[in-house]
Amino acid sequence: MNDITKLTVCETLDALKSKKFSSVELTKSYLENMEKGRHYNAYITECADKALKQAEMADRNYQSGNNRLLEGIPLGIKDLFCTKDIRTTAASHILDNFVPTYESTVTQNLLNDGAVFLGKLNLDEFAMGGSNETSYFGPVINPWSKDKDLVPGGSSGGSAAAVAANMCAAATGTDTGGSIREPAAFCGCTGIKPTYGRCSRYGIVAFASSLDQAGPIAKDVKDCALLLQSMAGFDEKDSTSCDIAVPNYVDFLNKDIKGLTIGLPKEYRPQGLNEEVASYWDKAAEYLKARGAIVKEISLPHTKYALATYYVLAPAEASSNLARYDGIRYGFRAEGKNLDELYINTRTLGFGKEVKRRIMIGTYVLSAGYYDAYYLKAQKMRRLIHNDFMEAFKQCDIILTPTSPITAFPIGDESMLDNPINMYLNDVFTVSINLAGLPALSLPIGLSQNGLPLGMQLIGKPFDEATIFSVAAKIEEDAKFERK
Ligand code: GLN
Repeated sequence: MNDITKLTVCETLDALKSKKFSSVELTKSYLENMEKGRHYNAYITECADKALKQAEMADRNYQSGNNRLLEGIPLGIKDLFCTKDIRTTAASHILDNFVPTYESTVTQNLLNDGAVFLGKLNLDEFAMGGSNETSYFGPVINPWSKDKDLVPGGSSGGSAAAVAANMCAAATGTDTGGSIREPAAFCGCTGIKPTYGRCSRYGIVAFASSLDQAGPIAKDVKDCALLLQSMAGFDEKDSTSCDIAVPNYVDFLNKDIKGLTIGLPKEYRPQGLNEEVASYWDKAAEYLKARGAIVKEISLPHTKYALATYYVLAPAEASSNLARYDGIRYGFRAEGKNLDELYINTRTLGFGKEVKRRIMIGTYVLSAGYYDAYYLKAQKMRRLIHNDFMEAFKQCDIILTPTSPITAFPIGDESMLDNPINMYLNDVFTVSINLAGLPALSLPIGLSQNGLPLGMQLIGKPFDEATIFSVAAKIEEDAKFERK
């Protein structure tokens, strides 16, 4: 019975349409997997009763022929999306009793298409992290772990782990500097961060507003295409949302890639790049060449400044966004003798270490005297990084790179936890894309020698997710990665 949870979303929809099983049966199977998989710690909040009610409704819609795009598909929702009447914590103590009175646009879009919500997925606190170890609710365990418990990647670690362990058919994620792509890579899933402005940010707890984007994490490329179609679209409630038509992404999966030019940025192959990562990268390029694509070296000269730029700008925006958590309006409050003490006590106890570090860096780079030296310089550098990509896209249609320089590492790894810079270095291939606002997808390409998934990243022109899907579908077909 539990085998039905191994199906992709698209396969499941076909089975639901032909009445092979009902959405209630399907939802129960996923709920069983969630129970069996509790040790992964992928969910912060489970919503079994609500999910079963939604599934009953979906079954009625199939009966009456009123089934919608994702009718009856059980999804997991990253606990950064506000969900009406369902607790939304951002994996932080400061929001651990916050129950929104409204629904985020992205989750509302999914609900409007008939999706069933199984629960809220674990993440790094306020999506700040690359290993899901900063969560107030504890780390998530990567389902690919063998003798040692490994991280699932972050910040959407719960999303990727739940998809990998069949504890949801697919999940939502958010990506500020790699948080969809990196966990997807570490857990052998596929995930896409669309172009900035493609998905509404309304109702998503903000980390760094000029970088945050929502997107799906799923079992394969086709599922990502279908889910993104549901999630994306113009929203007048988000002033940065773009009014650009959302194509039917699934239609692009079979599109020929003959004659497309694929760029390989030479700056992404530094001396000392992990050999396995490099050889899978070459292999992916070979697959595309064999399909008639033209592969050529390109240059993104400002790549070496991307991490520094990101780790100035993201904390700056975070420090401003997180000012609203003062113990008065939302969530957790620690009392104090006067207002100042209440603020101090609330924020001291309510935020974890990494979040405090970011607030301190952020307020520092924004403060008088340092603003010009750090924040303004970083803004200028962001423009140059963006220009690099625009120049590169005059010579190629898609850019191919690895997603991460490493595979999943052990939970509690001291080299990462004692020195946050080492953790930040893992984002070297992903942050530039957010700085430039571009769409990028990660898909699994194969296993490392120690049996862990490695991901490839495809970067597209602004609002050209469709071409990413065409190319990703070819690599997927040729790589024949076996899901867990
Ligand atoms: N790892 C990056 C960070 O910690 C990216 C996080 C994200 O994309 N939300 O900032």
